[in-house]
Amino acid sequence: MAKQAFPELTTTFLREKLEALGSQFGFSSEPYLALARQYLHSDEEDVPAAETNLRHYEADVGFPGSGGRPHGIERLYKRTLVVEPTLACAAHCRFCIRANYARHNLSEVELREIAKYCGSGSHREELTEVLITGGDALLVPHQVEYLLRALMRYAPNIRIARIATRIPLHDPGRVDGKLLRLFEGKLPLRLELTTQINHRVELFPEVIEALRRIMDHGVAIYAQNIVLRGVNDNLAALVDLYDLLRQIGIEAHYLFHCVPMEGTGHFRTTLQETIELAKRLTCGGHISGRAKPMLAAMTDIGKIVLYDGVIVERDNRHILLQSHYRLEDRQCWNPAWQLPKTAEVDRDGYLRVWYLDGAESVETAGFGSEPAVAPKYGLEFKGATIALSRCE
Ligand code: SF4
Repeated sequence: MAKQAFPELTTTFLREKLEALGSQFGFSSEPYLALARQYLHSDEEDVPAAETNLRHYEADVGFPGSGGRPHGIERLYKRTLVVEPTLACAAHCRFCIRANYARHNLSEVELREIAKYCGSGSHREELTEVLITGGDALLVPHQVEYLLRALMRYAPNIRIARIATRIPLHDPGRVDGKLLRLFEGKLPLRLELTTQINHRVELFPEVIEALRRIMDHGVAIYAQNIVLRGVNDNLAALVDLYDLLRQIGIEAHYLFHCVPMEGTGHFRTTLQETIELAKRLTCGGHISGRAKPMLAAMTDIGKIVLYDGVIVERDNRHILLQSHYRLEDRQCWNPAWQLPKTAEVDRDGYLRVWYLDGAESVETAGFGSEPAVAPKYGLEFKGATIALSRCE
């Protein structure tokens, strides 16, 4: 499989904010770069690097009715099925794991088959959650609504539906009455919204307002964030981000080490840097215990939380990580799942996987010593200041 083109794609909202940040702070300032690096194509993406993966893992599920074209559903875990109604997004995040996925749009027939799969056989006992992602699930709210209604009919075992989106950050104006109708029906399942926010600069007043409109419908929002070099790979930026998320009422979930996908090498810190950063963030009294994220790596066998003892061995840039997933469980939940070449089974039956580390950067020398104070612009930056005063 060859790398697909991932053209630069931004929204009018993002372009206007980039222009405003550049004009206010300069086009090489931290607030401008924190947004620009996430969305504007960089020649660094095209530099040959050790990161050559085109997918983060292979977990497609074949299911009756897919006509031999299993796409749009993935399963790695017992309780949760990942459904991707579309792979389109309003903007293309340059570090995204979806960059190399073939585009698709699931039809109502396919969505109905997925709901039936969730409620059939042993899946009825095991599956309790769906993660409706993409692409951006809120680009196709009618498909999401169709799936939710089909799940209620065919799979009452699904008690929680999580919807993944960056629409409130990419185009907050889309979070209007029409879109919010998705959250208005009294559904007999818990709806949660997951988003990704990597720097406080993204939380413009319009973005916070859009997130609030969703929360006002009783939907819990949580954020997953990625440590990205040149965006948020310092303590001050992360303290600032998690403080603001807490004030807005967005829960912290995973803080990811940037996944080793082709074209992402320039974003990737080393795992050790990231562990040190997360340690200082969560163990230094800098943020509330209620705002602390869980550090994880996205590997070829799924997410591995970086607890003590998870790193088993190092071989130059490759790191052997210990999981507590079992091969037999995986293949029981998803018979199509195969052990990747990078993985092995330990003598207790648990999976281990070799994970490509990020490269050292000269720019990060002295990394561990920077202060945990908000950068100066944090007090002056209009969007952030307004956001804080709205939340206090
Ligand atoms: S919106 Fe989500 S799926 Fe789409 S490019 Fe960004 S991170 Fe990837």
